[in-house]
Amino acid sequence: MDGEPDLYIGGVWRRASDGGTRDIANPADGSIAAVVDEATPDDARDAVAAARTAFDDGAWRATPVAERAALLDRIADLLQRDKEALAGLETRDTGKTLAESRIDIDDVTSVFRYYAELVGVSSDRLVDVGDPAVISRIVREPIGVCVLIAPWNYPLLQMSWKVAPALGAGCTMVAKPSEVTPLSTIAFTHLLEEAGVPPGVVNLVQGSGATLGDALTDTDDVDFISFTGGLATGKRISAVAAEHVTKAAVELGGKNPHIVFADAEWESSVDQVLTGVFLHSGQVCSAGTRLIVEESIADDFVAAVAARAEKIRMGDGMDPASETGPLVSEQHRAKVEAYVQLGLSEGAVLVTGGARPDDPALAKGSFYLPTIFDRCDRTMRIVQEETFGPILTVERFTDEAEAIALGNDTEYGLAAGVRTSDPARGERVVRALRHGTVWLNDFGYYTAAAEWGGFGKSGNGRELGPTGLAEYQEIKHIWHNTAPKPAGWFTG
Ligand code: NAP
Repeated sequence: MDGEPDLYIGGVWRRASDGGTRDIANPADGSIAAVVDEATPDDARDAVAAARTAFDDGAWRATPVAERAALLDRIADLLQRDKEALAGLETRDTGKTLAESRIDIDDVTSVFRYYAELVGVSSDRLVDVGDPAVISRIVREPIGVCVLIAPWNYPLLQMSWKVAPALGAGCTMVAKPSEVTPLSTIAFTHLLEEAGVPPGVVNLVQGSGATLGDALTDTDDVDFISFTGGLATGKRISAVAAEHVTKAAVELGGKNPHIVFADAEWESSVDQVLTGVFLHSGQVCSAGTRLIVEESIADDFVAAVAARAEKIRMGDGMDPASETGPLVSEQHRAKVEAYVQLGLSEGAVLVTGGARPDDPALAKGSFYLPTIFDRCDRTMRIVQEETFGPILTVERFTDEAEAIALGNDTEYGLAAGVRTSDPARGERVVRALRHGTVWLNDFGYYTAAAEWGGFGKSGNGRELGPTGLAEYQEIKHIWHNTAPKPAGWFTG
């Protein structure tokens, strides 16, 4: 990027071993935002070896917890110092608005601050084994070499959920951002170096997952793989990891229901259904893509959401007037368009959108209009599959049991929303939904201290919160006999 080498391996910035580079497109206008070095599988193997060496030499994992915590705080300080530059890179790379990117950088900072505090809180415990001479302790130790693979929709945010606890736990790591959106992670790695992360502790390779994936995962040198991305890739990585008995946590997609009862507060419901699905043009794993609305209000509710959807101002994310940006690439827009055609062929009723915007100012970007399909049902692929675009499907229900059944009728289970003014019903429905996060009369919020992850095919791990740190730790039981004596089993 900017003529500097972009691969960071063993504390050295270097170019790809075959000299390969990749053009990074700005999805708002198709221009080239940057040219970055693209790693080869050999480079990825070098990065794993560097992380292995840095872990095995023991210096980093022996660093006092207070020093690791101070490092996390220093990283948080640098993130805030460079917030505008990082946000700008994220916007040019993903297309999201600058306002969203700024929130992302603040959230990334919060994650580092949170783990800076948490790593100092010991979760070791003593176990009473019934013998006063024995001190039995459960302690946590770093899991080892971690491979951290992030998606393109929240490049730095998703990577921070991995890097912060991994560093705090005393692990070493290889980070691989999406090939489509590496810019913020490259800049962030420079900050890690500046903050004083020792050589080899964090290594960075970027390039296509298909090319680098096996070098990063099909190896005995890695102890933990933390992956966020799509279901198909998650299945593949899990299978490869299983061959090596490597622990793999996969955070995958979602097809998230937003259930609106007739007694829900109207204005906030319309607004949050709209925001829940169309923020970042629907490229959000927890987007509320399935509106499940009570029949008695459905016509008016859908009309109200559609009226607001038609007013969403699309544009270049760098323009403060833009409320949402483009899809991440032409290739991704083609996928979204194919889903719209599928919805039409399945008999869903198009309420609004279903096309590219006709504004000539947007013609060079991969924009797509907010789209709503009414009269959808659970048999439709557009209701069941993650489109990862600005597409809202509408299903209707007549009673609470049906609302719950529809809400749970997905192979995923990442997030859900419930809107009602009846607290007892709210609690019943929230508890009945099989999703990792459930919002009651709210949608989309999360915090660094609360676990994030999915039920079902939305994944098998948890990020954030204490569990997000525990993922990067092994548990060791230390049995210490302070008055050793023979076992006395064998008498000869
Ligand atoms: P993806 O295609 O699965 O890619 C995710 C990451 O995996 C990318 O860095 C990708 O690299 C890499 N990859 C691809 N093939 C690989 C392989 N064989 N081995 C190792 N790595 C490989 O997903 P995406 O399209 O980037 O992201 C969108 C998906 O992420 C959606 O399904 C979304 O719901 C999910 N997501 C989930 C969460 C969550 O918290 N659960 C959060 C955000 C996003 P390349 O990009 O270079 O191919």
